[in-house]
Amino acid sequence: MEKKVYGPTVDEETRCVHYHTVLDIVAIKFKCCGRFYPCYKCHEECEQHPIQRWGKNEFSEEAILCGHCKRTLTISQYMNATDCPYCNAHFNKRCKNHYHIYFDVPQDKPCAFGCDSSQCSEE
Ligand SMILES: [Zn+2]
Ligand SMILES: [Zn+2]
Ligand SMILES: [Zn+2]
Repeated sequence: MEKKVYGPTVDEETRCVHYHTVLDIVAIKFKCCGRFYPCYKCHEECEQHPIQRWGKNEFSEEAILCGHCKRTLTISQYMNATDCPYCNAHFNKRCKNHYHIYFDVPQDKPCAFGCDSSQCSEE
């Protein structure tokens, strides 16, 4: 299956116009449309519908794409990893602050990294 990454990407490793440090190499498949986007902002710009989060019973879904080796991880694999289990590329730890946007997890910390509050309080 082709793993096409949508949105305003800036390179072949899924970095986008919003997040493009050396660590930003992950794309996430959104439950609502089944499309991979580098971040929720990309999704927001390209889709007309609100984000639907992955539920707790769906964390075995292979919804995470490593932009470095192009292999997919399950959501729970990703949430428990600091780097890719296949190619050892480091993931951006700050993404943890955004899990609640993509996955049905409690938001334990306020978003300190560019996540606007209207998004955060949205169910
Ligand atoms: Zn969508
Ligand atoms: Zn983006
Ligand atoms: Zn990898």
